[in-house]
Formats: sequence, C-alpha cells, structure tokens
Amino acid sequence: MLDAFGKQNWWPADSSFEVIIGAILTQQTSWKNVEKAISSLKKEGGLNPEFLNYIELGRLEQLIKPSGFYKIKAQRLKNFLDYFLKEYNGKTEKMTEDNTIKIRKELLNINGIGKETADSTLLYALNKEIFVIDAYTKRIFFRLGIVDTNDYEKLRELFENSLKEKDHLNTINKFKEMHALIVELGKNYCKKDPICNNCPLFSSCKRKGVKNEYSWN
Ligand code: SF4
Repeated sequence: MLDAFGKQNWWPADSSFEVIIGAILTQQTSWKNVEKAISSLKKEGGLNPEFLNYIELGRLEQLIKPSGFYKIKAQRLKNFLDYFLKEYNGKTEKMTEDNTIKIRKELLNINGIGKETADSTLLYALNKEIFVIDAYTKRIFFRLGIVDTNDYEKLRELFENSLKEKDHLNTINKFKEMHALIVELGKNYCKKDPICNNCPLFSSCKRKGVKNEYSWN
C-alpha cells in the first residue's frame, strides 16, 4: 500500500487540539466537509478550547454545519470541552502525560465519543500506542482473508501486536501510517463494490465474500 499510495503523513492539522476536533467532526462525513467546518471555526475565533467553550451552542452549530449532523456534533464538541477543561485545563500536553487506558475510558464515557473517535484522538493527537479500527479496516482485512472477526477490541489488539516496534516513535508512526493507508485503499479500491483488478493488494487478496468486482477498464 505504501508503494501504491506513498506516505500519508496523517493527521492534517495545525495542532493536537485541532486533531481532536477533527476526529469528532469527521464522524459520518467526508474530510472535505470537515475542512470547511474547521475553516469556519478558525475564521470566527480560532480553534482553541477557550473560544469553543465561550461560543454559544447555536452559533457553534452554524459554524460546523458543513460537517453534517451539526446539532449532534456541536453538542459532542461541548461535551468533550467540558471534560477537557475540567480534567486537563484545556491543555493537550497535560492530557498526553496521563495514562492511556485512563484517558481511553474517560473519552468513551463522553456522550458521542465512540471507540474510533477516542482511538483517533489517542493516536493522532496524543501520540499514544493505540491502533484505530474503522469500517474500512474491518472490510478490507475480512476480504483479504486475514481476519474473520468484526470485534473492535480483538482487531485493535491484533493490529497493535503485529505492528508494534521496540521504539515508541516507530510504533506510533507505523500505526498512524497504516491506518491512513487503509483509509486510502478503502476509499479508492476496496469500496462496498470493490475495484479489485486495479487494487494494489489484488495478488494477495482472497476476496472473501466479494460478489461483484467492479473494474475501471
Ligand atoms: S483485491 Fe478487491 S477485495 Fe481485495 S483488498 Fe483489493 S479491492 Fe478489496
């Protein structure tokens, strides 16, 4: 995948806080829509916890409208901010110093933060050794014939154990890059109706459960 797509250098953001906001906004929408919402937030007052805490819920909803489900997401942002300001005084540096399992539990207790969002936050914003599982990962690795489970935690542990390096930095870079490459493959080839004959993994894929293979040719 690396040969086919090149280095992805995820996550595209100016700060760790922006990564977290992006991880919440990207739920059930494309990254293009998230970029529009983030750009509006930046224009309005800057993407920082103080501003997002200060701004009224109704105004926040309007600013993030391009990301879809804006009422739900605005409330989710406020829920996260309550926690973030109370526990870490709005500082991602303080959050990074804390224990990974503890943060994960706390994030999952916030209404609207699921495992994918929590783990994206831990890996991409806080540089914690947690692998992110998403729908693309489940679909691709099932079709490849490598896994036969849909269970988030089992898959996460499987990826973490297989990709973990001795060095922390190498591990998180590998986790970050692998997840980004999986998303790239899922978006471009291993879609619901996959484009198998052009896929970089064609020769090693069992295409388990694939009924219709679409082709560009
Ligand atoms: S060959 Fe087809 S099923 Fe296998 S990973 Fe590629 S697109 Fe998905």
